[in-house]
Amino acid sequence: MVEDLLEKQNLSGMEISMLLQAEGADKTKLFEKSSQIKSLYVGNKVYFRGLIEFSNICSKDCLYCGIRKSNSEVERYNLSYDEILDAARFAFENRYGSIVLQSGEIKSPQFTDRVTTLLKKIREFSDNKLRVTLSCGEQDYATYKQWFDNGASRYLLRIETSNKELYKKLHPNDKNHSFEKRVECLNFIKSIGYQTGTGVMIGLPFQTYEDLANDLLWMKGFGVDMVGMGPYLEHKDTPLYAFRNELLPESVRFDLSLKMIAILRIMMKNINIAGATALQAIDKIGREKAIKVGANVIMPNITPGEFRNSYKLYENKPCTDELPEDCKACLEMRIALTGNTIAYDEFGDSLHYVAGHNL
Ligand code: SF4
Repeated sequence: MVEDLLEKQNLSGMEISMLLQAEGADKTKLFEKSSQIKSLYVGNKVYFRGLIEFSNICSKDCLYCGIRKSNSEVERYNLSYDEILDAARFAFENRYGSIVLQSGEIKSPQFTDRVTTLLKKIREFSDNKLRVTLSCGEQDYATYKQWFDNGASRYLLRIETSNKELYKKLHPNDKNHSFEKRVECLNFIKSIGYQTGTGVMIGLPFQTYEDLANDLLWMKGFGVDMVGMGPYLEHKDTPLYAFRNELLPESVRFDLSLKMIAILRIMMKNINIAGATALQAIDKIGREKAIKVGANVIMPNITPGEFRNSYKLYENKPCTDELPEDCKACLEMRIALTGNTIAYDEFGDSLHYVAGHNL
């Protein structure tokens, strides 16, 4: 039965739900299939994206997030231009090919200009040989366009869940946290020409298998180029923590995350899929397991060490006290063990995007 599903061109929500619940030999078949497809369509390569979490100041109050505005326990920081550019230079000199600039969500002309200046400076020192992904939340069309015109080529905005009712349970009920706005922003990003990335949390309270299956169908229907998704991990200083007793055990959330990655690889063969750091928070070799079943991107954290501990969307975030050099050496060893090679000096553009834009 599972063999038949794995050969289908299009899976229904019900069929995806069945695969999400596959165990034993069926689960092994799912992972073997996704691993073959990865090898065939995107190769046994892993692309590095140096992650720079440049500010944990956020204007929003998502109920699951450790750096939400109302959490007064967090020490707020905002890296200087020099600190950010030094980290970007580290990625460039270590041949990463690509970085991600990530922050909490701030909407202001000053913030827009600051990111624009950073993009210009990065383009300048790297001679345009470093791809930049931005992950700075919801913005207006003009801001996204300005950043694109100044060198950002990829944008990551997680939908978190494609179920509007569940989205409402995870966010304050106000116009600053609207599902429709999130979708509108993703449409802006795509229409401007960014390689468009999204993702969801897996194992949320109130979430069903059907929700997760619909998340994958939503990603396919939208035509995303990149996905980063991982297990929901609770943070004690957030309102959603009150529902921790309703959560699936961490090991089950982890396993579900691997299955989501595997099924998505089968459904969207040539996109980029990241092995989320949250996987490693549960299982020390969690990201490597994700690479084996379909992921092809890793985001080594190159934020200066003293700030990394203050960018905690969830607790037990791994590697917060390592130097970028340590992080790189550790990853090289770990990836070699998966039978994949690290694609140094390559941009690693999403082949899904490249095919759609005749690049
Ligand atoms: S999830 Fe993002 S937008 Fe929401 S509070 Fe956290 S950093 Fe801010």
